[in-house]
Amino acid sequence: MDYLMRYQRRQAHEVRIGDVVIGGNHPIEVQSMTNTPTADVELSVEQTKRIAAAGASIVRLTAQGRREGEALAPIMARLREEGCHAAIVADIHFTPEIAMIAAEAVDKVRINPGNFRIAELPRLIEICRRRGVALRIGVNHGSLAKRIFDEWGDTPEGMVASAMEYLRACRSEGFEDVVVSMKSSNTQVMVQAYRLLVEAMKREDMTYPLHLGVTEAGDGIEGRIKSAVGIGALLADGIGDTLRVSLTEAPENEVPVGRMLADYFTRREGEYRVESGRCYSPTTYAPRTLAKPIIHSEVDEGYMLLDATSENPTMEWRAAILNSEDSRPVVLRRRYDYADIEQVAIYAAADMGSLLLDGMADGVWVDAPMLSEAERSDIELMILQAARRRFSRTEYIACPSCGRTLYDIQSTLAAIKARTSHLKDLKIGVMGCIVNGPGEMADADYGYVGSSPEHITLYRGREVVERNIHQSEALDHLIEIIRRDGRWHDPE
Ligand code: SF4
Repeated sequence: MDYLMRYQRRQAHEVRIGDVVIGGNHPIEVQSMTNTPTADVELSVEQTKRIAAAGASIVRLTAQGRREGEALAPIMARLREEGCHAAIVADIHFTPEIAMIAAEAVDKVRINPGNFRIAELPRLIEICRRRGVALRIGVNHGSLAKRIFDEWGDTPEGMVASAMEYLRACRSEGFEDVVVSMKSSNTQVMVQAYRLLVEAMKREDMTYPLHLGVTEAGDGIEGRIKSAVGIGALLADGIGDTLRVSLTEAPENEVPVGRMLADYFTRREGEYRVESGRCYSPTTYAPRTLAKPIIHSEVDEGYMLLDATSENPTMEWRAAILNSEDSRPVVLRRRYDYADIEQVAIYAAADMGSLLLDGMADGVWVDAPMLSEAERSDIELMILQAARRRFSRTEYIACPSCGRTLYDIQSTLAAIKARTSHLKDLKIGVMGCIVNGPGEMADADYGYVGSSPEHITLYRGREVVERNIHQSEALDHLIEIIRRDGRWHDPE
């Protein structure tokens, strides 16, 4: 309970990744991922250098096949020759042999327990130990192993069970250079999964550092707000040693957002007492009221307005709500004196996200005098949507793209948005590849997924509706499916 009332970093042990050390008292490191074809050494080196120059100390590249795996050694050599010392991570799905090749070249290997057999772990650990390579156990909501899924469903508890199984296997090999992540595009699932994992690790005396991220957050202010709600809710409680903000934009754009978030929390001070003895459990969702979530222009006397003025608004609000005898729904209000709309949006989302996700507050008031009335309302609605409390606009679950992406996802997302953003009740997944896309677009109503170069497979929920349509026709087909389902209307 104590750590929930003051800012204190969770104590994780140190893990070295190339020249970078995370955990312990080291600063929170920001990372990103390339979206070039990894087999193209030239392009990948150039982009990695751009990401590093933007301030990321860790850069990940996907290695889906032998060609990509074998390109990692020349990429490493070129980067070092050219003076780039970012820690390099290989992202592996499915093929243990590629993990072994990658571990011979890079600083860290990321595996997904949903598609990497635990029986292969000792062999991978042997190489990692010999070369001083770290490992990331990267669990993703939407790609759990069938065995785990059958027992737990696609739940935060299932994600934790999956991570713990692999962590115990690492521990039994005496290998501690391990980082863990529990990503989801659903901020409620993601925050719950990390918090449950922290408790599960504590019960078994494990102190592995954590890598934070919200997957498929999308682009623009919306993508930034979604990431800030999920990542911010955890950082506010001192959870997280490295992070990635996933945006469907140039990877270098992710870095300043990540840096802003990391820096915003580490300067927090102050301790907040809870006098009433009321307890708050961060791992149980308990809505305080059933009131409609609202924004500043909708506030009336039925709601209690709660201002936070200290350096640590999350804890200040949390304590004030727990201490209050007033049972009205709470609107969180805070002043943000910045002219930059992104800065206001990111800070407000990071401050308020935790209380919305936990069901402690039912409204937001972003008091930003330098922004227009419309901008403030927009930010507030986006924060409520990112915390999954009120859906007021089309939800796009768009992957950030990587070396597996089969089409130009940034321009496609823009085209899809231009035609569908008036369909306010829909969630649309826009995913670069069929290997990870369908699982990770979570609860999208429709999915637009790359299935081969320039070809798209369209989904309704988890069901394939049309396979392998050329990209030039795919958006029209998607709209036709929505129309046939009776969910289309023309823009006003
Ligand atoms: S869905 Fe596929 S293309 Fe998109 S980031 Fe994930 S692995 Fe890469």
